[in-house]
Amino acid sequence: MSADTATGLLESGAWHRNGFSGGWRALEGGIIEVIEPATGAVLAEVGHAAPTDVRSACAQARQRQVAWAALPYQQRAAIFRAAAQRLEGERAAYAGWIVRETGAIPPKAMFEIDSVLHLLHEAAAMLTQPQGLVLPSVEGCTSIARRQPHGVVGVISPFNFPFLLSARAVLPALATGNAVVLKPDPRTPVCGGVLMSLLLAAAGLPEGVLQMLPGEADAGEALVTDPDVAMISFTGSTAVGRRVGELGGRHLKKVALELGGKNAFIVLDDADLDLAVSGGCWASWLHQGQICMSAGKHLVHASIGEAYAQRMADKAAVLPVGDPHTQQVAIGPLITRKQVERVERIVRESLAMGAKLLAGGSHEGQFYRPTVLSGVTPAMPVFREEIFGPVVSITTFDSDAQAVALANDGEYGLSAGIHTRDLARGLRIAEQLHVGQVHVNDQTVNDDGTMPMGGRGASGNGSRHGGPANWDEFTQWQWSTVRATPPRYPL
Ligand code: NAP
Repeated sequence: MSADTATGLLESGAWHRNGFSGGWRALEGGIIEVIEPATGAVLAEVGHAAPTDVRSACAQARQRQVAWAALPYQQRAAIFRAAAQRLEGERAAYAGWIVRETGAIPPKAMFEIDSVLHLLHEAAAMLTQPQGLVLPSVEGCTSIARRQPHGVVGVISPFNFPFLLSARAVLPALATGNAVVLKPDPRTPVCGGVLMSLLLAAAGLPEGVLQMLPGEADAGEALVTDPDVAMISFTGSTAVGRRVGELGGRHLKKVALELGGKNAFIVLDDADLDLAVSGGCWASWLHQGQICMSAGKHLVHASIGEAYAQRMADKAAVLPVGDPHTQQVAIGPLITRKQVERVERIVRESLAMGAKLLAGGSHEGQFYRPTVLSGVTPAMPVFREEIFGPVVSITTFDSDAQAVALANDGEYGLSAGIHTRDLARGLRIAEQLHVGQVHVNDQTVNDDGTMPMGGRGASGNGSRHGGPANWDEFTQWQWSTVRATPPRYPL
């Protein structure tokens, strides 16, 4: 399994050095080199969008959207089902790209593919669901509210789960009758954009309904401010989300923001320690901690704090680190050198403030070792900042109230997990946490396209992706009335 196994859809080569805008074509911004994080090798070249490319893509998408929304719903549903079937046949080649372009271990790549398969089936299913409501009506007048597409939806996606995080916005947006202009992250344009474009084109999506333009911040801002774009779905950092929200507000767009997290994993004194350690490892080390829902702070009851920390450190010492394309490892590379420097800075500053290093804390190139810090206090950067690296940060507490206060101490509000044998106690704590999702007796990283996922505070503006939330995000209501005869007014 490798990115150079150019089988099936990827074999055509038409995507090389191009963007997808009314077919594969060269972009005015030139070329982006796709770098493998594990080796530094150039994996491919794709087109680089300039703001002028974004302008013409949005205009074309707006023009094609009307015919797309008018296509019989059975035909639109069939396209998503055909894409799912194609994806089944492309598993190995697509997974190879996810491994090499994102530095993922193969099970993470397979998880992304299975999740996108699920989203494709969900998109097909949306088309046969009710599309509106019959409202209270007076005699002689029927009043209905129908779900209507926004028009053109701009999607901006990040590097960490690029195939899945592009798909979770692109697919429901298309299913509800919108056209889409997708800007994947320039570090992962193949998984974030090329794979989905190839899949949907092969499944029969009419040309121009999906436009895909790899690009940087200037292309992103051109998309957010484009007059033909009605909605932006942005997944990425809180800093960039603020900028996108600001620009979107000024241009009166609907903006869905899915941003960063600093998620609490709470272990109560009655928890099963084995299972808590297992959940904690997964939540902080899966994909090198580069997940918005990663456990950013492990809050552990003081009576078991030392045992928990030691078990995490023992685990860290034996987890294999290396290139997931050529070796069987648990931890791959961080996405860029800049990200390694960020993790280093957060760990260094926290150690200087008194945190204790139990494991890791070093790196070779972009391979940062699984790291465990104990004795962490709320003043330390490792407690407050999103790390996006394989770092377990442990803080102890003495009471449930203190656990809640520590979990809620910070600007983020994405996800939380609580381990306890007492379900009522777990639920009482869950109800007090300011987060978009919380799991009693599970860890923080849970994703399922059927569920409404999103964050509060600095983690998002209350928008949601998934299941019933997709109707709320990607459509707007139109109230219409029909009377048999027009009424006569007194003036
Ligand atoms: P990022 O730096 O915010 O980048 C996200 C996307 O925004 C990229 O495509 C980026 O392109 C683009 N962008 C940058 N500046 C822009 C601007 N001014 N206008 C429009 N677009 C712009 O985030 P990241 O570092 O790639 O991703 C990690 C972050 O995403 C973490 O904070 C993580 O928690 C969050 N995340 C959240 C969720 C969720 O569901 N809540 C899921 C996954 C990740 P460039 O790369 O060219 O700058």
